[in-house]
Amino acid sequence: MTTYLNADLHCHSTVSDGTLAPEVLAARAKTQGVELWVLTDHDEIGGQQRATPTAQALGLAYLSGVEISVSFAGKTVHIVGLGFDTDNAPLQAGLLATRGGRGQRAQEMSEQLARVGIPDEYQGALKFVGNPELISRTHFARFLVERGTCKDTNEVFRKYLSEGKPGFVPHRWATLKDAVSWITQAKGLAVIAHPARYGFTANEEYALFDEFKTHGGRGVEVMTGSHSAAECLRYADTAREFSLAASRGSDFHSPEESRTELGALPLLPGDLTPVWELLQDRIQAPTAH
Ligand code: AMP
Ligand code: MN
Ligand code: MN
Ligand code: MN
Repeated sequence: MTTYLNADLHCHSTVSDGTLAPEVLAARAKTQGVELWVLTDHDEIGGQQRATPTAQALGLAYLSGVEISVSFAGKTVHIVGLGFDTDNAPLQAGLLATRGGRGQRAQEMSEQLARVGIPDEYQGALKFVGNPELISRTHFARFLVERGTCKDTNEVFRKYLSEGKPGFVPHRWATLKDAVSWITQAKGLAVIAHPARYGFTANEEYALFDEFKTHGGRGVEVMTGSHSAAECLRYADTAREFSLAASRGSDFHSPEESRTELGALPLLPGDLTPVWELLQDRIQAPTAH
């Protein structure tokens, strides 16, 4: 398998903070020309049993997927897991624990926003939540747009929900070592998601990649909807430097909010090893064409 494959290995459904159901996303991926597809909900694999057969029946190849929230060097880092066994008990337990603090965090976010004159955010955000265990900042952002506080979710994050802003609550997620271990012991492959998003110094970023490799991580997202064209080139170099396989994923959340459509990114540079080359025996083949 080469890099010349329309693979989209990163997106979100209503099972986390996307607005489309897994089945609807699968159909959209097919329409957009995706050949190999992965649903990667945050900290949750409850959508996999819905995504897999739907994708296969539509003629898509499928890999299991998840995006795990990790705390590293004082920031939140996302680790994508691909091609793992979805019935693996330690992985399921780790994800359950990672989801665990979200309810309390959301209550605290709501209390902080009330103090700056924005009451009842928790109740309002719940209207947008598809999975009660997965209340996220995105759901808060959608309600703040609906009530007219901001014009779009980007503005909400900038003014209220990012670090240092009134609605931000620091949170302890999984460790890098745990997240990579949960994925790899379940026969999956761990990938650093959208590395340009973290705002790390050069030293912190080196430490992230170095420790990730030490723990058994093997891939990095090079082509992602979260990167500029220049950042895609830069992390292609990082993949070469650290001998990591490369991944490609839109990080699609919603037709209204996402700037990158499913399957619409440029292909990976031809000299890189695509992650799907390392996962060939984990790919679930289409059942229809
Ligand atoms: P959480 O896991 O609750 O911390 O929420 C993180 C999610 O917020 C990410 O997965 C994105 O979907 C969303 N997000 C983060 N930053 C932004 C932003 N600047 N604009 C829009 N959505 C964002
Ligand atoms: Mn998200
Ligand atoms: Mn992410
Ligand atoms: Mn994502």
